[in-house]
Amino acid sequence: MSLESNRTLGGVGAILLAIPFLNLIGIILVLIAMKGMAEYYNDDDIFKNALYGFIFGIVGVVALVVVIFMAIVGLAVVSPVVTPFAGLGLLIIAFVCMYIFSLIAAIFYKNSLNILSEKSGEHMFDTAGLILLIGAIIPLIGEVLKFIAWILVAVGFFGIKTSTQMPAPTPAVSTSEEKKFCQHCGAQLQVNAAFCQKCGKKIG
Ligand SMILES: [Zn+2]
Repeated sequence: MSLESNRTLGGVGAILLAIPFLNLIGIILVLIAMKGMAEYYNDDDIFKNALYGFIFGIVGVVALVVVIFMAIVGLAVVSPVVTPFAGLGLLIIAFVCMYIFSLIAAIFYKNSLNILSEKSGEHMFDTAGLILLIGAIIPLIGEVLKFIAWILVAVGFFGIKTSTQMPAPTPAVSTSEEKKFCQHCGAQLQVNAAFCQKCGKKIG
């Protein structure tokens, strides 16, 4: 895929990542874009770090889901007197696990974004990585920061300069339409003119 496709994919993915329930689709698009970026900038660490971030993020969520499931099943099966406390304990452990995993995930995402920032020259990725990490450190309120961080990642992706976007160099005047100027008065001459129309002098 071209740099431009990956740029668009990453930008759209990062926006989806900021939206609840669409974030899984978003992260997959971002990962594909990061793979492309890693190839384009010839640095595998861009993709590897993003992939590790993804894995840790998923593990954290899966752990939470499993524990909640266990707590519900436990509540239904075992004695209803003991389980609410056991369930609450499990839930706290699950949230702590998810917090730690999402923190590790953020560190990996930040690494990936830092390398991408350095390679692409788009420093919005640096800012986004930092905000993402701070968001992961602060529970609950941090979710807002994470949202902002992914929007900034999108801004970063769309800000990457691709060669096709660079202003085309003004085309050199083609030889057939080459303009001539009189060497005596500077007036523009007609093509193949032998004498200057303005000053009448012979053209050298
Ligand atoms: Zn002239």
